[in-house]
Amino acid sequence: MATDLPKSTVQLRELRLDDARALLDRDTTTSLPDLQDNPTAFLQSVIDGLCELSLKDPLTGLSNRRHFRAMQERTIDGVARSGEPALLLMLDIDHFKKVNDTHGHIAGDQVLQAVAQCLAKCVRPMDTLARYGGEEFAVILPNCHTSYGANVAERIRLAVEAFRIDVSPSTSLKVTISVGGAYAPEWIRSTISLWTERADAQLYRAKAEGRNRVSLDKQQEVHVSAEEKNLLFGHLALGDPAWIENLPADGSGATTLGAMQRVN
Ligand code: GH3
Ligand code: MG
Ligand code: MG
Repeated sequence: MATDLPKSTVQLRELRLDDARALLDRDTTTSLPDLQDNPTAFLQSVIDGLCELSLKDPLTGLSNRRHFRAMQERTIDGVARSGEPALLLMLDIDHFKKVNDTHGHIAGDQVLQAVAQCLAKCVRPMDTLARYGGEEFAVILPNCHTSYGANVAERIRLAVEAFRIDVSPSTSLKVTISVGGAYAPEWIRSTISLWTERADAQLYRAKAEGRNRVSLDKQQEVHVSAEEKNLLFGHLALGDPAWIENLPADGSGATTLGAMQRVN
């Protein structure tokens, strides 16, 4: 890869690497190769280390939002190509402000770290788990069949509910989470924003309905507006506009389009 790059004339001595080195020494476990022995390997390790750091949330070690968005993008592409269902879950700790107010921010941070560990144990290696914001986490579950989604989300909710978090030798806490979820539509390229908004709406619903619960978007009930139908199928129905009108509004015509998109 990149074999056509010009031969490097970079002088490592002229690069200001001290800050990068300090950052990597502090925040990663991998040690850098010796600069004198192998300058190229050293520089490559610095770059790899910084890339890794740029994708992680420093408090929990989970993926950060930047990495999460990239994985969402990749998943949406994968779903459009393969039709494999992918579930997005948004998870928010219930009444977390109370934890901070009662036990202090350090205890709050410990709770965030513990919840992150608990969530990490609940997901598969192929899933992407991120700290999405303050006390909000998100998971992408590729290849998650629609009939399993609710069970998976409920299992995660129960695991957090049962988890005891020691914030001091004499204090252990328990927290709950509310979970909202939405599947990426299989038959049309969605956008990250639309997908996230649908999962977010379900999270708000779970909160409004009393918290410590799961609410999933009914993704199979795909509603296709006349305008969308036109955009999607118009070029196929040039001679027969009635064909568009007769497409089922429940998205069952979607399979055909999904298959066509995959072939094209
Ligand atoms: P809800 O059930 O509606 O989600 O209530 P909530 O209290 O969890 O939500 P709210 O948005 O009112 O409060 C979130 C709190 O999370 C407020 C903020 O100070 C705290 N928080 C955000 N990031 C961090 C962090 O990194 N560390 C700590 N300790 N607290 C944080
Ligand atoms: Mg909250
Ligand atoms: Mg929140």
